Amino acid sequence: MLALAGIGELVTNDPALDGGPLGVVRDAAVLVGGDGRVAWVGERRALPDGHADRLVDLGGRAVVPGFVDSHTHLVFAGDRTDEFAARMAGRRYEAGGIRVTVAATRAASDAQLEANARRLAREALASGTTTLEAKSGYGLTVDDEVRLLRISRTVTPETTYLGAHVVPDGTDPDAYVRLVCGEMLTACAPHARWIDVFCERGAFDADQSRAILAAGVRAGLGARIHANQLGSGPGIGVGVAADAASCDHCTHASDADIEALAGTRGRTVATLLPVADLSTRSPLPDARRMLDAGVTVALATNCNPGSSFTASVPLVIALAVGGMGMTCEEALWSATAGGAAALRRTDVGHLRVGASADLVVLDAPSHVHLAYRPGAPLVRAVVQQGRVVSGGLS
Ligand SMILES: [Zn+2]
Repeated sequence: MLALAGIGELVTNDPALDGGPLGVVRDAAVLVGGDGRVAWVGERRALPDGHADRLVDLGGRAVVPGFVDSHTHLVFAGDRTDEFAARMAGRRYEAGGIRVTVAATRAASDAQLEANARRLAREALASGTTTLEAKSGYGLTVDDEVRLLRISRTVTPETTYLGAHVVPDGTDPDAYVRLVCGEMLTACAPHARWIDVFCERGAFDADQSRAILAAGVRAGLGARIHANQLGSGPGIGVGVAADAASCDHCTHASDADIEALAGTRGRTVATLLPVADLSTRSPLPDARRMLDAGVTVALATNCNPGSSFTASVPLVIALAVGGMGMTCEEALWSATAGGAAALRRTDVGHLRVGASADLVVLDAPSHVHLAYRPGAPLVRAVVQQGRVVSGGLS
């Protein structure tokens, strides 16, 4: 077993340890079993003797659970630099930009798509993300959507079928919804855990979104939804009614939307994606209002080439604290345990005994530095299922 000791501040997300949601232990140690799971956590002085084959002293650094990024679009080709620059020069963002990436993705080889996805997955890992969701949605034909999900599966088991990202050019919307709910779903379901729909003006309306999620659930997939990103609308209500694990974006949530989310008691999480708002110069979601109403909030990157081209959860945490009214504690919880809730996972997002030994060693004495030192390279080492996968422990 591996023992990590000399941990100045250990965040476990186990409220039983200190009464708070983060379950902080000071001067802590963690034992990692040969099965890649947490075997023991507690104060260093209570570390049981004789179990560790190797003991690493982390010199007072903070350790937090690996980040759970529950919303990415990792598999794509091409680049939208020009679109971003034009938008920053004053042009408005609309959902249609997705079509540019669809054309580039269809034209790319499997090897190109795999290489790009692996590069971004490595980037995510190096910034502390140990659990990652990845969506299709840049293929929009039966074969291309299957291809994107197959490639997604090479980087994560948390794959999401997003055939309903946008209606492809020159296609009748109703006919496309029938395809998404029919032949495309049948072909994609074996490669996916989730189904998602972009419920937004310019993409899919409430009736279409309801039909798509219902078809996915009948095929054995869990529901999630892109909702209320660009304006107010029915997305959150559709997601809650479909028992979605998560309503994502929620930038334009009404009081009734927030009440509906709170009423699920954490069953449907609000996943906030502030880099998408930053990169489209939109207002950041009002996390404070949601938290005060009792909504369970997750934070994720939405890594995609159009509106949020980053895999950095530390950046998202800094934005959430600086611009969305979250405390440092809430933001870290939302980027770990919140992400796990948005994927309905109980084995990740915390460091209780039995959890997957996914953790991040920070070059800092406290998790607070994630927001306090935005942009600083604080991730010293990343451990996933008990193995050091990025950086080094000593
Ligand atoms: Zn998205």
